[in-house]
Amino acid sequence: MSEPLIFERGQPGRAARAQHPSQEHSCDLPEAALRREAPLLPEVSELDVVRHYTRLSQRNFSIDTHFYPLGSCTMKYNPRGCNSLAMLPGFLGRHPLAPVGASQGYMACLFELQHALQTVTGMSAFSLTPMAGAQGELAGVAMIRAYHVERGDTDRTEILVPDAAHGTNPATATMCGCTVKELATRVDGDLDLDELRALCGPKTAGIMLTNPSTLGLFERQIQAISEIVHAAGGLLYYDGANLNAILGKALPAEMGFDVMHINLHKTFATPHGGGGPGSGAVGVVDKLKPFLPIPYVISTGEGYRWAGAEDCPKSIGRLSAFMGNAGVLLRAYVYIRMIGRQGMSRIADHAVLNANYLMTRLKQAGFDIAYPQRRASHEFVVTLKHVAKSTGVTAMDIAKALLDKGFHAPTTYFPLLVPECLLIEPTETEGKQTLDQFVAAMAELLEQAKHQPAQLKEAPLRMSVRRLDDVRAARQLDVRYIPSGPQHGVEQSLRSGD
Ligand SMILES: *Cc1c(COP(=O)(O)O)cnc(C)c1O
Repeated sequence: MSEPLIFERGQPGRAARAQHPSQEHSCDLPEAALRREAPLLPEVSELDVVRHYTRLSQRNFSIDTHFYPLGSCTMKYNPRGCNSLAMLPGFLGRHPLAPVGASQGYMACLFELQHALQTVTGMSAFSLTPMAGAQGELAGVAMIRAYHVERGDTDRTEILVPDAAHGTNPATATMCGCTVKELATRVDGDLDLDELRALCGPKTAGIMLTNPSTLGLFERQIQAISEIVHAAGGLLYYDGANLNAILGKALPAEMGFDVMHINLHKTFATPHGGGGPGSGAVGVVDKLKPFLPIPYVISTGEGYRWAGAEDCPKSIGRLSAFMGNAGVLLRAYVYIRMIGRQGMSRIADHAVLNANYLMTRLKQAGFDIAYPQRRASHEFVVTLKHVAKSTGVTAMDIAKALLDKGFHAPTTYFPLLVPECLLIEPTETEGKQTLDQFVAAMAELLEQAKHQPAQLKEAPLRMSVRRLDDVRAARQLDVRYIPSGPQHGVEQSLRSGD
């Protein structure tokens, strides 16, 4: 079933003539910078290109084609309208170095987006410049450090992180030069406050929390946690990568958080799973405002301008060229304006309802829920520990077999503290019918695990690729094309100016 490479589809001399740059095109690069040899390019027609890439795209799992319950990633439907408005010619053609006078419309959108994010979180200021959740976290921890250092409190270098946390939390804290102290989660899914008290002290810079946690549980002791950490002189960082469960319901600032990021590419109209551009907008309470990364948009009364280094001498500085990912920011802006305040709250209603419905139905179908005594938030964890023990079928086997049944696999083996786990996030945009079909598929797989476990070890059988060596793909990725035969065709057609 393997698809030929685009090079293998070609014929010497074939070209997409309509797209060919004109030969008269002048070039002001210095002679020394020009390449001597023609590049190796596939020689294909325009139609060949369209068919090739369309066919490849059809082999992908995407939210446009399949249910995608990838926990912690919020793979929901993103309205097309957000994208078409973000692509209006005035936005698309705007040069990032365009003068402020010619950018007022764009800046008004960003200013209003900053304001909307303040409203939805209770924070007093936002900067939109970080390009990913992880970069937002880096900015947040850098601001926490800058705050302590500015007060002469230079020994505060420890960041507390629960064992359920997303890997980016300890990673960003470490990159900021902090030491990570891990906090244990109790069997009921909340944090161990005695341990927290014991770990807090004069070296505590802060704590990083996701609430609801990556276990899909709302931390019920959040006020006590805030009091303990603040009393010790530390600050609270809110990992707001997934905001679906609390939108319009709860404000991180009211929970006691001082600084946070939001993944606009999960909750606000840009899909996360493609690994494409993102935005980890950061918000802060008043006392951290001087440290916000620049630039952000401020209102002058008559219009808008960028707040830069002169306005914010204590800023942690720039995190991206220009002002973050414009397309992602505009989609988020349109989405927020489109759904409004009531829409926000309905997102949370449906995200939480869908997760609890799916959790209950899977429990009825015989699956073990990791925290069965707790309500789910926007996601929940299934553990296949007992299934693995009695049948040998693992969470990975179930995940792969789901692909054959037309469902993207849930997140596997994360959070790390639950053995053989699937983290399932149905999102608010799925209907009951799809959720029921997913339950039916899962129930069939559970039966199969009991009676024909060996078959599941072979899955997926119906995909274009079977089980890949993930480690090799990450560490030894090789996507070069090395032609096997002589490539006269390429050279010739370029030289003859075809
Ligand atoms: C996705 C996610 C992140 C990281 O976001 P990126 O944009 O992938 O860097 C951090 N924390 C949680 C809880 C997440 O789900």
